[in-house]
This record gives sequence, structure tokens and C-alpha cells, in this order.
Amino acid sequence: MVIPKLALLGATGSIGSSTFSVLEETPELASISLATAHTDFNKLIALSHRFKIPVLCLTGINDPGTRDKIRCSVAGQTTVFFGEDELIRLLEAEDYDVALNAITGSAGLRSSLAVLQRGKKLALANKESLVMAGHLLSPLTVKNPILPVDSEHSAIFQAIGSHPNHEIRSLHITASGGAFRDLPLEDFRTITVEQALKHPNWDMGTKVTLDSATMFNKALEVIEAHWLFGLDYDRVRAVIHPQSVIHSLVEFIDGSFLAQLSDPDMRLPIHYALSYPQRVRSEQVKTSLTELSPLTFREIEPQRYPLFYLGLEVARAGGLLPTVMNAANEAALKLFMERKIGFCDIATVVERAVLSAENVSDPDLETILRANRETYDRVLKELTD
Ligand code: MG
Repeated sequence: MVIPKLALLGATGSIGSSTFSVLEETPELASISLATAHTDFNKLIALSHRFKIPVLCLTGINDPGTRDKIRCSVAGQTTVFFGEDELIRLLEAEDYDVALNAITGSAGLRSSLAVLQRGKKLALANKESLVMAGHLLSPLTVKNPILPVDSEHSAIFQAIGSHPNHEIRSLHITASGGAFRDLPLEDFRTITVEQALKHPNWDMGTKVTLDSATMFNKALEVIEAHWLFGLDYDRVRAVIHPQSVIHSLVEFIDGSFLAQLSDPDMRLPIHYALSYPQRVRSEQVKTSLTELSPLTFREIEPQRYPLFYLGLEVARAGGLLPTVMNAANEAALKLFMERKIGFCDIATVVERAVLSAENVSDPDLETILRANRETYDRVLKELTD
């Protein structure tokens, strides 16, 4: 049996850790030929020893002395490259069969494009790639569909099976409601960073946990589903499901719903993306039906989650606005983490950036990357000067 070679982008984050856990149990799913991280070189090097990874890339280490130190520490066993341009070059030239893009945020876009342009399989956890440039990525996926790693999109992918789009009435993306789904609205003004980082159901990275608390994450996921499954926005919905057991549902034109469900654990969608189109045995996620709490659903409240509704408007506007919105949110989260703005200011900052932006339809990559950088810098500057 030939074991596929995996390029794991964002190896030191939460999805990266879950991927290593999947491969420890089921090593036949993939062997890692390339692993990348932004700055956490200690963790990346430890992983490279443990999993015998031949090529590494660190995109966020710029100091020449630190680079030399890292090169020396792995000399003879592993080759290390530095910088985002080198990462793109590796994706264009290195030997791999599938790339799992688990880079956080807008920084993941160029990698997704490089993988698809080369005709390699892309397992995608970086939803921002599709949010910013779905119109550039989707023509590259006609013969080579993206394998979704986001749990909701993995659920939809599994439930749709081989049914064509004209048999689908709607997709229903589920949302946990995040850390503040039951917090009285009058207490929102005093939310702290520590409170916002506590996700009730999922163990995830910092950014997606904060984006779940504001429900911005669900707006990004609506856009992601639109591009992944080729459905217009009238047919992509979201609903709060506090138990996070049903990971999403597909409603067909005959009135049937198909859902995918399990205990919330990211190892399952990763395992499925790497084993697709087969089902491969795993004992890591086991769900006891009789121990589940009752499964409930409720509407997404506009006052509690203004960013979700802003995100839907931006999604329909399309063009460059999703990039502007996403960049403003990334800057706002940084300021919130640094305790320079409050939790409720995140939505205000993002709305202001969107309202003051000039939209461009069908933007090219350069325009998208420039708007991303400029919006991010402008929001930081406006609020720290
Ligand atoms: Mg998700």
C-alpha cells in the first residue's frame, strides 16, 4: 500500500495537533513530507523528530541569528526554510499528494492557491482562503474538489454524497453559540479576554474561539459553504445548536434532512478528509447516543451576534468586501487580546471598516492581498494612535 505524502501547513496549532493525533492512531492515512509553522520553532522541531519530517518551513522567523540557530539544531536530519515566499516555492516544487491547510486567518490564502494551481489535493481548514478569494479558487476545483476539514462543511460534504445541487433545498450550518450564548445582554460590556477564550464545547485555537463568541466564524462559514458547494446565499442557513453534536444538515427538495453527528472532536473531520473516499476504522471519537443531552435548535439573535448579520450582508455584496471585513476582524481581535478595545467594540470596528470601504467586484489576488494588508494596518493605526 502506498501511503500518501502530506504537507501539513500550520502544524503547531490546534488542527495540527489533532492531525498528529489522527496519524498516531492511523499512520497509513499519510506520512508528513513537509510541515510548517509561523514562529513556534521549538514545537515544530520536536514534531519533526517524532514524526521524521524531512522538510520544515517557518514563515514568521525573520532574525538571521535565530534562523542560523534553528538550522544548526536540525542539521543532517531535516531541511528548514524560512518565509512565506519560500513556503509557496515549496508548495510548487516539493513532493506531496495532499496539503492540509490549517494556517490561521488571511495568511493561508496564498498557500491554498499554490496547492490548487499545482493540481494537488487540498484539505482545507483555512476558511479565509474561500472568504477572500472563493472566485479565484473555485474554478481550480472543478476536477479536484476541496476536501473540507471545517467540521460543519465536512458534515455537509458527507451528507450531500453524490446528490446534485438541484436536489438540495438548503444547507443548515450549526453553531454552538459560543461562550456568550446565555449571557444576559446587559453583561456584554464587561466581557473579559479570559471569558471570551472559554469555548463551551470545542477545543480550538484562539482566533476561532473568539470568532465563535462573536459568531463572526459562522458568517465566514456561510461564505465558505457558498463556495465549497456552489449554492447561492438564499440556500445557506445557520442555526444555533448548543450541544454541537449535529455538525450540520442538508435539507433536500423532498423534505428530507440528512445530518452528520458525533461528539465534537476535530480529529473526525481530519480523519475523514485524509481517508476520503473511504471509511477507515478509528476508535478516537465514540459517541454514546443514550448519554447525549437533548438536541435543540434556536435562531441566531441579531442583538447578541451583530457580526453574523453584518457578515451575511457582506457575503451577498461579495467582491473585495469579505476581505476587508475579515482583515478588520483580525485587527480587532488583536486589539481585544491586547485589552485595547472591549468585546463589543469588535463588531463596531468591523462595521466601520466595511462601511468606509470601496468595493471592487472580481478582484485579482494582488488587489485582495493589498486590501487585506491595508485594512489590517489602518484599523490598528486608527485605534492605537
Ligand atoms: Mg467550523
